[in-house]
Amino acid sequence: MRSFLEKSSDHHSQVLSVDRLLHQGRTAFQDVLIFENRLFGRVLVLDGVIQLTEWDNHIYHEMIAHVPLMAHGLAKRVLVIGGGDGGTLKEVLKHPVEEVVLIEIDREVIELSQRFLPGVSAGAFSDPRSTVIVGDGTEYIADTDSQFDVIIIDSTDPVGPGEQLFSEAFYRHCRTRLLPGGIVAVQSGAGFHQPELLAKVCDRLGGVFGTAKPFLAPVPTYAAGALALVVAGSSGKALRAPRKILKERFRPLEGRTRYYRPEVHRAAFTMVPVFGHGHT
Ligand code: SAM
Repeated sequence: MRSFLEKSSDHHSQVLSVDRLLHQGRTAFQDVLIFENRLFGRVLVLDGVIQLTEWDNHIYHEMIAHVPLMAHGLAKRVLVIGGGDGGTLKEVLKHPVEEVVLIEIDREVIELSQRFLPGVSAGAFSDPRSTVIVGDGTEYIADTDSQFDVIIIDSTDPVGPGEQLFSEAFYRHCRTRLLPGGIVAVQSGAGFHQPELLAKVCDRLGGVFGTAKPFLAPVPTYAAGALALVVAGSSGKALRAPRKILKERFRPLEGRTRYYRPEVHRAAFTMVPVFGHGHT
C-alpha cells in the first residue's frame, strides 16, 4: 500500500502517503489501519476514516476534554464513551478528578493504540484513577447505576458500532446518569462536510438536555480541517463560562496543554459552523 485515500463525500477526498505500513486488519467490529506518514506521523484509521494522527490529535483531545471540564469546574467523576486510543483519558486526568471510567467497544483499538501510538495515552490507562471497561457504551449507560459530572462521547462517526451513540434514546440514558450541573460533550463529525449531522446532534441534545452549544476545533487531518463538537447540559450559563472564571480554573493546567487555553475555549464557540450546503 503506497497511499491511503479517505473519501469524505462523493465530491471530496484526501490522500496521504503511506510511508510505512504498521498494521492492517479487521477486528470483530471494524477495519483498522495504522501507518506512518512523513508529515503527520503515525495515523490511526477505522473503517476508512482517520481517527487521529500523532501530529494533530492533541487539538481534538484537548478540546473534547477541557471544554466540558473547564465549563463544569468541579468535576470529580467522568465517563468517556469510546476513545480507545486513550488521548481523551490522558487529558481528563490532568484535572483533579477522582475517577474516570472509559468504556470502549473494541479491545483491539485499546491494544493497538498502546502498541503503535503509546504517546497518545502516555500511561493514562494505568493511572489509578482510570477504570477501563471493554463493552458497548449504549448498554453500559442503560445498565449502570453510576453517575457522572461529565460524560464525553468520543466516538467514531454514526456508522457501524458508533451509530447508536448518536441516538436520542442513548442521550436520554446519558441524562439519567448525569449528576446535577452535569455536562455532556459529543464529537459531532466534520463540521463542513457533515453539517446535517451537526444540526441533528444539536437538535437532539438540546431536546434532551435543555441547552446544546456547538463549537469547532481545527484539526488539519480531519475532512476539511474542522471538527464539530457539542456541549450540552441543563444550564446554558455554565456552558458559556466567562473568561475570568475560565482563567482562574486554568491556572493549575497552565503549561500542560498545547492548544487549549481560555481564549481558545471562548473563540471556539464563535467559529460558526456551516449548517447546510449551497453555492452563491
Ligand atoms: N477522534 C476520533 C474521531 O475521529 O472522531 C474518535 C476516536 S476513538 C478511536 C472512537 C472509538 O469509539 C473507537 O475506538 C470505537 O471502537 C469506539 N466506539 C464506537 N462505538 C462504540 C460503542 N457503541 N461503545 C463504545 N465504544 C464505541
